Amino acid sequence: MIFHVLTIFPEFFAGPFAHGVVSRARDIGILDIRIHNLRDWTSDRHKTVDDRPFGGGEGMVLKPEPLFLAVESIWPQRTAAQKVLLLSAQGRRFDQAMANGLSREAELLLICGRYEGVDERVAAHLADDEISIGNYVLSGGELAAAVVIDTVARLLPGVLGNETSAAFDSFQESGHTEGLLDCPHWTRPADFRGWKAPEVLLNGNHEEIRRFRSQAAREKTARLRPDLLPPARPEEE
Ligand code: SAM
Repeated sequence: MIFHVLTIFPEFFAGPFAHGVVSRARDIGILDIRIHNLRDWTSDRHKTVDDRPFGGGEGMVLKPEPLFLAVESIWPQRTAAQKVLLLSAQGRRFDQAMANGLSREAELLLICGRYEGVDERVAAHLADDEISIGNYVLSGGELAAAVVIDTVARLLPGVLGNETSAAFDSFQESGHTEGLLDCPHWTRPADFRGWKAPEVLLNGNHEEIRRFRSQAAREKTARLRPDLLPPARPEEE
């Protein structure tokens, strides 16, 4: 899968993709991340990418021309399989289901906004979708792009050691967690400062362990994320 990222801070991405799963996915050729500097598509001496908002008001807005030119030059013959996603606090909320969908795409281009945002013609006429990573406002789309790429990368076949590992993750509707949180985990030492790992996990009885984990996942979901539980059936109320 190929990700393009369009940004005015290309150096931002030296860190997020240099470690762990994403770095390994790049090394083995499953994931290709191409970072593009938006200023390369400006023509003035100052490499201007922003301008004041029409109608007045605070801040600056990313101009449409460099963004359109960049996409048209990266994809001169853009096909329906080449999708542009605009990172935006106003977008549709990114979640595991959306990540699953994106992991089936071949090539995506993420536009990172800055300042007060991006000229609305980009959302209307260039982007296929507008994506928000949560109900809060970041200073720029770079962190959001890194979140999207990291989340999608671990879903690509062959990236995680075990093909099914992502199916054990929290929020995976079709996986083992059935949309709930993953079960809690413990490791050695079995007794740490008097806090003991659950005995059942040490006894090697796989059926008991499976039942314990399923119950523990439900309890943790009920405690921290009751919104994820399926609605109670009338007889359970
Ligand atoms: N004025 C905008 C608003 O209130 O919706 C916020 C602009 S924000 C300071 C600058 C850029 O950060 C946005 O254009 C977008 O690319 C990115 N951004 C901010 N919050 C985001 C979020 N929750 N999800 C994705 N991108 C976000």
